[in-house]
Amino acid sequence: MTTKRALTKPQLRAVREELLAERAQLEHQVAGLDAEADVKNWREGGFDDDPADAGSASFERETAQSLSNHARGLLLQIDDAVRRIDNGVYGTCESCGERIESARLEALPYATLCMDCKRRAETGR
Ligand SMILES: [Zn+2]
Repeated sequence: MTTKRALTKPQLRAVREELLAERAQLEHQVAGLDAEADVKNWREGGFDDDPADAGSASFERETAQSLSNHARGLLLQIDDAVRRIDNGVYGTCESCGERIESARLEALPYATLCMDCKRRAETGR
């Protein structure tokens, strides 16, 4: 059980700060990507006579949009993790209720499942 100790209050506070910092970064990123996707969208209309340019503009727009969607998904996970810290349930597996391994939380601060449950969820067993 040595690797499954509960996080101490200062540790939680540090994680929370880290999450909020990452959140701010992601929000910035999302705003930038959305603006990029918008610009590409707008510019695309002007490429009627050059299909190659239009194609690459729409590809870039889609890339910006998918990156933005990905970042948005992370934002939700971060919000959720912050909420769990505030509710005092952070670091507890949502599936089995066991402590999530601290190494796992370090690598993925907004993990909601312990290693075993994650593996089970992935393999469907
Ligand atoms: Zn679990």
